[in-house]
Amino acid sequence: MRARLVVGNWKMNPPTIEDAVELARAVAALPRSSAKLGIAPPAVALAAVADAVRGRDLAVFAQDVHWEEKGAFTGQISATMVRGLAEGAIVGHSEVRRDQGDDDVRVARKLARAVAAGLRPILCVGESEAEFVAGESTNVVARQISADLAALVRGSVGRLVVAYEPIWAIGTGRPATGAHATAAARAIRTALRGMDVDADAVPVLYGGSVSAKSVVEFARADGIDGALVGGASLDPDEFGAIVRAFT
Ligand code: PEP
Repeated sequence: MRARLVVGNWKMNPPTIEDAVELARAVAALPRSSAKLGIAPPAVALAAVADAVRGRDLAVFAQDVHWEEKGAFTGQISATMVRGLAEGAIVGHSEVRRDQGDDDVRVARKLARAVAAGLRPILCVGESEAEFVAGESTNVVARQISADLAALVRGSVGRLVVAYEPIWAIGTGRPATGAHATAAARAIRTALRGMDVDADAVPVLYGGSVSAKSVVEFARADGIDGALVGGASLDPDEFGAIVRAFT
């Protein structure tokens, strides 16, 4: 059986490094469950948060890494820089795709860099609202998986995690249904098998307006092994309730 995993993506929150350390300590103090717990603080807070939770059973993730190893890339952070501070990194989040122009070619290079650096990647895929309405969700995620894994040396996916995050559900208060997430997870695993990946070993998380209320649906959904949580992860009590649902 795959281990369950719940990761809080803090995005550009909270406002100060001190606040990030305080939030990390609160998450580290949550009652333990069988689900593994992770947090993805902003890059500027990674070192302080990593120090604050060292030795606790709490995985730290970066929110992104650059596709190159080093060089003239002002403002960017390499996978090698992240190693030592974090266990892994989110790659291909839809907000990064939207704001920084990441296409699947770039996401594939980022994923390959993360794996080569020994980071545990959380690869985000998911369809737009228009694609959802057109009934294209499973085709879109299958296409993304094939494209985003294209730069990996065949078979070397590291400890890959895939987060299915329909773009129309992120931050909207309008989560998908469990059945929709299950169908997407099935399409993701079929596409992974097509890339010679042991898909049964890859956790698939659901992300998009997960809250203490909506989580029940996803905790019960076949093929879903946890959640990537945005807004609700900034409140330790709410995040704790989400984690408990995946126990
Ligand atoms: C996210 O951006 O990864 C996310 C799931 O956000 P939210 O939970 O706020 O919808």
